[in-house]
Amino acid sequence: MALIVQKFGGDALGDKGKGREVDLQDLHSSPPLLAEKFHHVARIVKQSVDRGDQVIVTVSAFGDTTNRLLRMAAALCEKAPARELDMLMATGEQQSVALLALALHAQGVDGVSFTGPQVGIRTDEIYGASRIQSIDGEKLRALVAAGKVPIVAGFQGSTANNEITTLGRGGSDITAVALAGAAGADSCEFYKDVDGIFTTDPRICPSARKIDRISYDEMLELASLGAGILHSRSVEFAKKYDVPLHVRSFLHNEPGTIVTAEDKAMEQVVVSGIAFNKDEAKISVLGVPDKPGVAAELFSRLGTERIVVDVIIQSTARDNTNAIAFTVAKKDFTRAVAACEKIAKDIGAKSIETDEKIAKVSAVGVGMRSHTGVAGKMFKALAESGINIQMISTSEIKISVVIAEEDMEKAVQVTHKAFEDQSEFAITEEKTV
Ligand code: ASP
Ligand code: MG
Repeated sequence: MALIVQKFGGDALGDKGKGREVDLQDLHSSPPLLAEKFHHVARIVKQSVDRGDQVIVTVSAFGDTTNRLLRMAAALCEKAPARELDMLMATGEQQSVALLALALHAQGVDGVSFTGPQVGIRTDEIYGASRIQSIDGEKLRALVAAGKVPIVAGFQGSTANNEITTLGRGGSDITAVALAGAAGADSCEFYKDVDGIFTTDPRICPSARKIDRISYDEMLELASLGAGILHSRSVEFAKKYDVPLHVRSFLHNEPGTIVTAEDKAMEQVVVSGIAFNKDEAKISVLGVPDKPGVAAELFSRLGTERIVVDVIIQSTARDNTNAIAFTVAKKDFTRAVAACEKIAKDIGAKSIETDEKIAKVSAVGVGMRSHTGVAGKMFKALAESGINIQMISTSEIKISVVIAEEDMEKAVQVTHKAFEDQSEFAITEEKTV
């Protein structure tokens, strides 16, 4: 018997993005689409219960509900107070838990719905982006011990003052892992409309394949690099509480991808996945005097402006000046350029150049720690396709290159190809660098 947290997102419960808005009225339509979705989810839960597992369920708002609520708010008030938005958005998940409890009852399972606050999901005071501080794990354990299936509203909690808060978009993933940590669950299952985590996006690279097992650290790199399947904070939580995650499909019963603590077998695989994004832009500061303190001045002032800098390179010119180039999130780009213009003057730099048409492609794998030649292999694949590398950055388990945006798809394909030719998406003991 295992204790499992099962999380169902908006697409498992509704028809998100299928060109029509699912509404409660659909319960009465024929065929009853929304009702069938809830019954389908209830059947998945019931299967685990029938197998003898203890189950805690958490859900998102169904279908497009959260967006619909936000549109309603915008129609009423241009500058909606964050407190009222949270009060409104929290109702989406509250509908889902009650409806799922009803579907479970119809199938003979004792489901009990709860809001976040009812199971003690205590958060800080930041409306719209709050962080979970604690959860009443005892209450959840007592419920499952009594043969009940608690169904907890994802994405929400309350402050010490009983104010309703939400965790930020996509936050019910975080609720799921936090519930698993607090209740001491054996695993946390995410039911999605994909079969699992893939080596890269199959829409770009048809030979991408499902990963069976991957470490928390690799998943964090892939999640934050834009693979976008799990909220990255939920993976951080999973690592902290050592809760294995199982990302799987709600459409069939095949196993998906297990995200878990790193082990020896994972090191055999050099590259686990290729991530990519177009969310960054490049700023180059040219003619920077070559003396101590200028980089410190530049980046500490950007930090003061709350601009997050990602890849940085510095190249030395002959005339005692340097070029310093770095990337920032596109959403911060305008502010970053304005800040840099001022800073450049103050540090005596000559000029600034910018480029918004860049992309970042990264190869990720814990096997890089123990295998050599990985960077060389990636760069060679790019070179053979005539793709120019503008910037490079590496960590223990990641190699990222910044390239022209128009080269992104090709770069993903050839990098994937470079590593997929080897058995198990791995190269073995290649010593070229
Ligand atoms: N319903 C919320 C959202 O759409 C939370 C979630 O789905 O995870 O962002
Ligand atoms: Mg979601």
